[in-house]
Amino acid sequence: MLEDDFGREVSGVRVSLTDRCNFDCVYCHNEGLGDTRGPMDPQDDEMTADEIVRFLEVVSEFGVRKVKFTGGEPMLRGDLEEIIERTPDSMEVSLTTNGTFLPGRAEDLKAAGLERVNVSQDAIDPDAFAEITKSGAYEKVIEGVEAALDAGLDPVKLNMVVFEHTAGYVEGMVDHVAENSGLQLQLIEYMPELTGRPEWNIDIERVHDWLEEKADRVETREMHNRRRYYVGEDSGEGGMVEIVDPVENPNFCANCHRVRVTHEGYLKGCLNRNDDLRSMGEMSREEIRETFRETVANRVPYYGEYMVKEEGEWVVNDDYIDAPVTHS
Ligand code: SAM
Repeated sequence: MLEDDFGREVSGVRVSLTDRCNFDCVYCHNEGLGDTRGPMDPQDDEMTADEIVRFLEVVSEFGVRKVKFTGGEPMLRGDLEEIIERTPDSMEVSLTTNGTFLPGRAEDLKAAGLERVNVSQDAIDPDAFAEITKSGAYEKVIEGVEAALDAGLDPVKLNMVVFEHTAGYVEGMVDHVAENSGLQLQLIEYMPELTGRPEWNIDIERVHDWLEEKADRVETREMHNRRRYYVGEDSGEGGMVEIVDPVENPNFCANCHRVRVTHEGYLKGCLNRNDDLRSMGEMSREEIRETFRETVANRVPYYGEYMVKEEGEWVVNDDYIDAPVTHS
């Protein structure tokens, strides 16, 4: 496995298949590219299935054993099943989706080799859901979650971004997973870095404290020191809630083992940075190998290294100001 200068092995890749989306979530960072949404039809700038598979084959040689497909909305790609089918067998395949296209396709995705799925569900209330996602497709999302469970995808995780607009729905979502043993909930701390709306932040520690009180038991995972809260176990069902809290968290960045790929085929070493993009364009396998090696070698933990704390404020580390960038 390739390792960066900070001892972080790269074991996974997160591949954006498109930046098109049928939702317009008010908080969306679009995998670190900001708001670039446009038309719904397939676009020429998207990587083809062949390009995606070639990249996955190359990185599997380096021991990368996990791929998560994302977007935009990755299920807008009609060839998603083909891409999953052609992903090297050595890689675990997961997907993050808004869920609306899972009804009618979940079984085919599972048959193609999809193992697990994250479905974004930011509220348990249709009106709030419509306001946050700028879409009235709440019922379709609920159907999509059912379809994923019926198809045997495991686990089915619900992703909820916790910020001003959703904070009031956390309790309802926690109760929802407590009553549905197949479901898990990921409460994702709202990341303001690329959305420009820091005023929507809420203090995620308060959610930790509240869950600590509510949970039957708490476990701490080695990965990112993430805490897992088990709720509703005494009811016979029960569910698991995890908080993903990367913001201003050097421990999170120190445990980042992922390289990203944009829908246009740029390698991206960090969600929060766009000054380290490397285009794979028309590259040969050997060139991709080399560029991937360089991307890994250039990876820097964002909080704690790229950003450092000075007098209580996070500021860019002087070492990286005006540092040469490696665009190709
Ligand atoms: N459309 C797909 C979906 O809904 O999962 C995939 C793309 S979406 C960008 C991937 C994940 O990023 C979702 O779980 C979403 O909740 C999360 N996300 C997007 N913007 C975010 C932000 N500003 N802060 C935290 N999480 C965010």
